[in-house]
Amino acid sequence: MAYLALYREWRPKTFAETVGQEHVSRTLQNALRTGRIAHAYLFCGPRGTGKTTTAKLLAKALNCRTGHGRPVPEPCNECENCQRINQGNSMDVLEIDAASNRGIDEIRELREKVKFAPTEGYYKVYIIDEVHMLTNEAFNALLKTLEEPPGQVVFILATTEPHKIPLTILSRCQRFDFKRIPLEDIMARLQEVAAGEGIKVTEEALLLIARAAEGGMRDALSLLDQARAMAGEQVEGDHIRAILGAVSGEKIARLLDQLIRRDLAGALQLVGELVEQGKDLRQFVRDLLEYLRDLLVIRVARDVDQVLRTSPQYWERLKAQAEALSPARVQQMINILTETEQGMRWSQQPRLLLELALIKGLSQEGSEVENNLQQQVAQLQAELERLKAAGPVTAGPAPRTTPVARPVTRGKKVELAASDPVLMKQVQEEWPRVLELLRKRMQVRAFVVEGEPLHCDGQTLSLVFPDGKSFHRDRLLQGTNLEILEAAVQKVLGRPLRVQALLTSEIAGSSNAAVEEENKPDLAPEELVKTVQETFGAAVPVEIKD
Ligand SMILES: [Zn+2]
Repeated sequence: MAYLALYREWRPKTFAETVGQEHVSRTLQNALRTGRIAHAYLFCGPRGTGKTTTAKLLAKALNCRTGHGRPVPEPCNECENCQRINQGNSMDVLEIDAASNRGIDEIRELREKVKFAPTEGYYKVYIIDEVHMLTNEAFNALLKTLEEPPGQVVFILATTEPHKIPLTILSRCQRFDFKRIPLEDIMARLQEVAAGEGIKVTEEALLLIARAAEGGMRDALSLLDQARAMAGEQVEGDHIRAILGAVSGEKIARLLDQLIRRDLAGALQLVGELVEQGKDLRQFVRDLLEYLRDLLVIRVARDVDQVLRTSPQYWERLKAQAEALSPARVQQMINILTETEQGMRWSQQPRLLLELALIKGLSQEGSEVENNLQQQVAQLQAELERLKAAGPVTAGPAPRTTPVARPVTRGKKVELAASDPVLMKQVQEEWPRVLELLRKRMQVRAFVVEGEPLHCDGQTLSLVFPDGKSFHRDRLLQGTNLEILEAAVQKVLGRPLRVQALLTSEIAGSSNAAVEEENKPDLAPEELVKTVQETFGAAVPVEIKD
């Protein structure tokens, strides 16, 4: 049963009420003010971030009677047209859900009816949800309409997966990217809704809801709804955990104590308990990662209470644990668990993966780890030097271009251009899917898995191999292996990228830095701050402790 009462009731009715997408509202309202209305809009972004809500706002702003036929920057919500749209029974605003039946009949019907003028309002607005689910046939029909759009018709296409939409359609739309709504904004909105509904909620519960919603307001409000139904007097953290199948903070803190004590038996027993209680192990790994993130933040910075995501009741313990672990070890655990979390998405054996990760986390120390860390330090150092030399770089959207001819890189030092952090994040998130696609080409995959996608400037993606894996790198360069990989990357990311396979030592500036760093087992504070910010977003304010 979906809990959507709160979500529907508190759905923003004006642009001013929308949360977290100011860049979209501002641009749309400017267009409404000046009357420069596009024929087709594409709203992209994760689920629950306000795409459909904004589409309806736009539909109202175009049809509101206060404009007397001209668009208004903010709908009145009082006139007949606004009210019909709010109630979902306007003749001129039509919603099509492409996911339900792939849209063939609807698009056909749309093509027939689109030529008729609006009946009640001033614009016909077609909102096509999950548009990437349309069949090719439906896309073609839609394209014909977009090529010769009748006057007074506006299409709003919404999707969570823009890379699945044909270029011919994309090129005819004005595109808006909806972002995940920041944690603080979700919490503030939850508080507002709870106050308005007379629901008592603890701070911890709010935090847990906002975290679980992962940037989506719909999920956040639906969770609050569910918790309200379950809780009596007051919604508390444990209600939310029960709904999420999440594990209490106590268990996470306990597991970390066990890792510090190198108590493998205890750690495995705890995993057994979680399985018996039917907990979601992948969620557990995510929570554990958040906890480790806080541990790292506490370790390298002061006055961080504002940015900690763990409940205050665990802070003392967190601080003690941070003292007991070197930042390098925490970072190593984060690496292992991040990999595990991604692996769990595809695995039928989440328990086994988690147990392996714990064993790995406890046993893997000494030379191999330190070597890896030194390589990472060297990379960071090289990047830092390069950035210093290059001066400030302005980041912008990467141009969409086709790959140019492939230069030979083997054995040469390669200068890397500035990385595009947004694209890079996407690459790293989607990388498991690339590997999944390569399952049909096991040999190529066997070489690719030894490298890590570490750098992407919008045209070239650098897959970096440890120096000890030159065999795998060299094999990847043979025949059409790279082309096969590039095809998989394009399929997953929806854009062409040239892949270059590099050894760590082939990155310009790497070897010198490595020598300097030879006697430093831990990361220097400067690098740690950078690592924290790269891992968790630059929004984390971090000061270096003396
Ligand atoms: Zn109105």
